[in-house]
Amino acid sequence: MPIAEQLIRIQCPLCGNSTPVEIVQKGQFGLDCCVSICPNDGLVYLNPRWSKERYHYFYQHEYDHYYRSPVTHDPNSETNYASIKKIYQRLDLNHLSLQGESVLDVGAGMGYSLIWLKNNIPSFTRFSAIESSEYCLNHMKQHGGIEIIANDLDKDFESSAFDFIVMRHVLEHFMDPIRALKKIASLMQPDSLLYIAVPDMMHPKGDLQNYWFRTVHTFYFSEHTLLATALRAGLNPIVIGSENSELWGVFKLSSSSVPVEKDNNVMAKQLAVILNYHQ
Ligand SMILES: [Zn+2]
Repeated sequence: MPIAEQLIRIQCPLCGNSTPVEIVQKGQFGLDCCVSICPNDGLVYLNPRWSKERYHYFYQHEYDHYYRSPVTHDPNSETNYASIKKIYQRLDLNHLSLQGESVLDVGAGMGYSLIWLKNNIPSFTRFSAIESSEYCLNHMKQHGGIEIIANDLDKDFESSAFDFIVMRHVLEHFMDPIRALKKIASLMQPDSLLYIAVPDMMHPKGDLQNYWFRTVHTFYFSEHTLLATALRAGLNPIVIGSENSELWGVFKLSSSSVPVEKDNNVMAKQLAVILNYHQ
């Protein structure tokens, strides 16, 4: 029973602004996708947008149909391990070795990243996942050794801290990314590493309206807005990079509160990227 689509107005999570500049109203697959940009900090986000309940239903029952390609069903396909290998390579190039015993994959999908870590990083002994898709949860349950700690980060759950946390292409899906990262920060210790990758709104690719802008992406980060979001959640960047329209970074808990650097040009730069974009 798909819940009726009811659009809800929100405030910019970075500054509280409630009068963003609206860019488009429909996105990929012709679904509701009111892309807006905050005039204060250049944050691109959906406003208004679906309710939390509508999104939850979509992730549980409809997301796989739109977004999970047939290749993900084949555990022998190397494609399924490409993203975790890329993470490993990026950490390695920046002299950040994967150490520790416990790893949490937020938005773990079919669990392939955890399976790869299990087979390739001997020090890891605890493999945990947060995932909403019932199909994926069943797949992970069949692969012994993966602990499902929640089907939604926003729900209450108990867990000890992790040495390494992966949030690959998930932060752009949350209803409140600062709250999500604060929850993640509560699962970290001083030496824990958090890897985040999101689509880079300063370097989009494909057709904006029929590919890049999509209902499931409630936020579209640039380096500036990702750092501002992380700092507000008590996380400091160790390294940050952008390749092939993907913005990524490794973060640690911050020992002191770092002020968010104000850059009044972000809004203008971000708007120019969108208005001047040609596929
Ligand atoms: Zn704002």
